[in-house]
Amino acid sequence: MQLLIQKFGGTSVQSKENREHVIRQIKQALEKQYKLVVVVSAIGRSPDPYATDSLLDMVKYEEETDSAKRELDMLMSCGETISSVVLSNELQQKGIKATALNGAQAGLITNDEYNEAKIKHIKPDRIKHELQTHDVIVVAGFQGRTESGDITTIGRGGSDTTAAAFGAALEAEAVEIFTDVNGIMTADPRVVESASSIDVVTYAETSNLAHQGAKVIHPRAVEIAMQAEIPIRIRSTYLEEPGTLITSSWGQELGIDIPDRLVTGIAHIDEIARLVIPIEDNDLDSQAEIFSIIEKADISVDFINISSSFVAFTIPMDFIDEAVELLSEAGFQVNVTENCAKVSAVGAGMTGIPGVVAKITNALIENNVQILQAADSHTTIWVLIHDKHIKQAVNALHEAFELDSLNKQMDFS
Ligand code: ADP
Ligand code: ASP
Ligand code: MG
Repeated sequence: MQLLIQKFGGTSVQSKENREHVIRQIKQALEKQYKLVVVVSAIGRSPDPYATDSLLDMVKYEEETDSAKRELDMLMSCGETISSVVLSNELQQKGIKATALNGAQAGLITNDEYNEAKIKHIKPDRIKHELQTHDVIVVAGFQGRTESGDITTIGRGGSDTTAAAFGAALEAEAVEIFTDVNGIMTADPRVVESASSIDVVTYAETSNLAHQGAKVIHPRAVEIAMQAEIPIRIRSTYLEEPGTLITSSWGQELGIDIPDRLVTGIAHIDEIARLVIPIEDNDLDSQAEIFSIIEKADISVDFINISSSFVAFTIPMDFIDEAVELLSEAGFQVNVTENCAKVSAVGAGMTGIPGVVAKITNALIENNVQILQAADSHTTIWVLIHDKHIKQAVNALHEAFELDSLNKQMDFS
């Protein structure tokens, strides 16, 4: 039996008309003699009634206790469950042997970190059993259950991860992620009009782009597929295009040796705040205390800059109040710059190549983008800017690295 995993995101299952495209994609795979596990997200986006954010808006908890989080998981999981039954039923109406399972029934077992649960393992027996009598198993994404039977969800955007996890557990031939764009693009097409779809990309670069804000795929999904060595294809639900193939070695995949690209894509994350905290000359105790306060509050920090006279770092905007309160209580003065954004240029080929940082700074300065801070690793360069400059910055870098013609630079013929 050849098995394929297909995942359809919220917009793909949003309306009956869109689901006709979903069914067309499923039928095409069935015609190629595949059996399918189809993972679905909740129907649509807020204010659609069964979208995850709409369900969340139905309740209000004063405090984020474990009990509140457990109930939120029960509520949020309903979105994907409804979606799985609706699609399964529409497939049945077309004469396709389909059935729906929620995450718990499909055997996705997690720990009990409600709202952000980690997948422990998958018990594949039930799906394998259903595959004997059905051609398509529609599985509700984003959810699982603890060993003791509580419903959990695995973090926003988690249906991608569900798809990859079932791909690994069932040793599927590939995981196809269907969405509203034609694959991984050189930048978010909502920000860069000339962004182009990337034909082939490595797991490592994709994971990097996803961590830096390219929300077209969840980084955890990439990591699971990479470990299991299962190729992922990201495609548009509505087109007949091949989209992007994510694999370990794209040169090998194409049968030719292709050099790494200097820059593969530009990603960005907004809603970031920069905190600058003055300290006495070289006061090492204060430096350590600041980070232990933030760590105890479980706030993740980025763009850390420690000098003899100040400590600076960024945090998500949601945590400003908590961080400022805790640091002020400990006697620190905190200067906050709100509404910052992190723009990243990602490319496996930039290692050891001189001039990449210079190209980035020149492009930003020429476009009047103020750089608040910069950092680099061997495959990524990050810049912190004011978020009002996101569009200028991402477009400037996209142009500087000629990404609108990325696939042409790599002539596969
Ligand atoms: P789904 O609901 O199908 O999971 P998402 O909204 O989570 O879809 O992800 C698709 C969106 O990701 C696209 O509409 C696009 O705006 C955004 N996106 C951000 N960066 C990229 C990128 N580099 N390539 C493609 N899409 C991107
Ligand atoms: N519905 C969930 C969310 O909106 C999971 C997903 O779509 O992947 O985050
Ligand atoms: Mg998504």
